[in-house]
Amino acid sequence: MSPTLDSDARTADARCSRRRFLQAATATGVGLAALSTASSTASAARSSLRDQYQIRLGTPDEQTVYYYRAEQDGPTTMVIGGIHGDERAGYLAADQIREWTVDRGELVVVPRANPAAIADDLRPWDNDLNRQFPPRGGDCLSPLADTLWDVVEHHDPDWVFDLHSSRGIYKSDDGGVGQALFPTWTDPARPTGEQTVAALNERFGLSGDMAYLMGNTLDADRDMLMHRVAGVLDRPGFICETTEKAPLDEQVAWHLFTVEHAMAQFGQTRVTDQKSTTQTTQTTPDRHEIVIQGAGPETRYEFKATESVTPIDEPEWNDYVYSRGVNGAVSTGEDRFYFEGSLEYVEVKEGDAADLTVTVDGREISAEPNTRTIQFEGTGPAVRYEFKATESVTPVDEPEWNDYVYSRGVNGEVTSGVDRFTFVGDLEYVEVTEGDASDLAVYVDGLPFDL
Ligand SMILES: [Zn+2]
Repeated sequence: MSPTLDSDARTADARCSRRRFLQAATATGVGLAALSTASSTASAARSSLRDQYQIRLGTPDEQTVYYYRAEQDGPTTMVIGGIHGDERAGYLAADQIREWTVDRGELVVVPRANPAAIADDLRPWDNDLNRQFPPRGGDCLSPLADTLWDVVEHHDPDWVFDLHSSRGIYKSDDGGVGQALFPTWTDPARPTGEQTVAALNERFGLSGDMAYLMGNTLDADRDMLMHRVAGVLDRPGFICETTEKAPLDEQVAWHLFTVEHAMAQFGQTRVTDQKSTTQTTQTTPDRHEIVIQGAGPETRYEFKATESVTPIDEPEWNDYVYSRGVNGAVSTGEDRFYFEGSLEYVEVKEGDAADLTVTVDGREISAEPNTRTIQFEGTGPAVRYEFKATESVTPVDEPEWNDYVYSRGVNGEVTSGVDRFTFVGDLEYVEVTEGDASDLAVYVDGLPFDL
């Protein structure tokens, strides 16, 4: 708590912090040996490394720091989420980024910097973690802020991203700061941010108030983490703010895009590792193919799987693929992906669902919002089935004479053909009422459904 902070004192303080950090890491027995080795043998041939360690063990602030180091030397990017516990887009995006692989350099992610506040879904205004980082040096104002700063100094990042969200929108007179990137004063933060903002607006079709802007410069005059990154480390980086007026999934997609796009500008590329994913998934029975085919007019769609998504062809510039989902566009062509698990949703974001044909493993499914598809395939012998949905049922093809369709259910029969319906809500039940269940295959949203 020295009142004078000349540059010598700052340096001494930084050294002290690093030592404290390493001592703490040793004392808690976390896997930092590999990290220390990494920084001392940067020029030698090295293998890639994925690691993690915990900080603030045994306290309400206990959390994990995630680390990936590529074989090839390069910049270190650091991403922080969850400084404000009620800003979900930031930590949900960081939860995904911590699984990313990069082609060079290092990626360090502190996805949930303030776990106690996240657990309460709260920004405690009387104890705001982002007011505990004196921007020109000196001790941080809480043990948690102090440890987080030690982590920053230990990894010595070349770029830092701090992910947040805001109720409002920057420069819209609602007092909010969403839809903006606030760059540190260090070059080339601002020009890099300008490129990313332009690409974000283009890719996601953001205009009017929703269009991203560059915010004012973080110039080391407030007690915020990123002001301290500017004032003490003098490194480029951004506070990234989305608006909570948008759906959470979109906010997360914007954060992911921002980090990936800015990283690409400084030569660090996210690797989706298509080849090895494909190799692994070929032996996995749970891998499925989804094809989204356009009929002409440009249609923007989004889908999300429960486990993972991998593009089959090289994604086009307007298809954004993240670890479990895709935000893409088709006009006359088709986009093809593998996914694992099941589909959480498929929906049209812009354009008309009628212009899209979506198939899963060759079976067409609905792209209408909140609408799911159920398909009955017979093998030959007649089987009568019955099912009921919680909200409504609609036949896709004209029902045959022996298929009775009610508002929420169907009593139908198949032999060697296919009966297909869409429904809204959940399935109350699906059952075979006559015949042998082994002569019937049922698919929900293109995936086998166990009777
Ligand atoms: Zn915030």
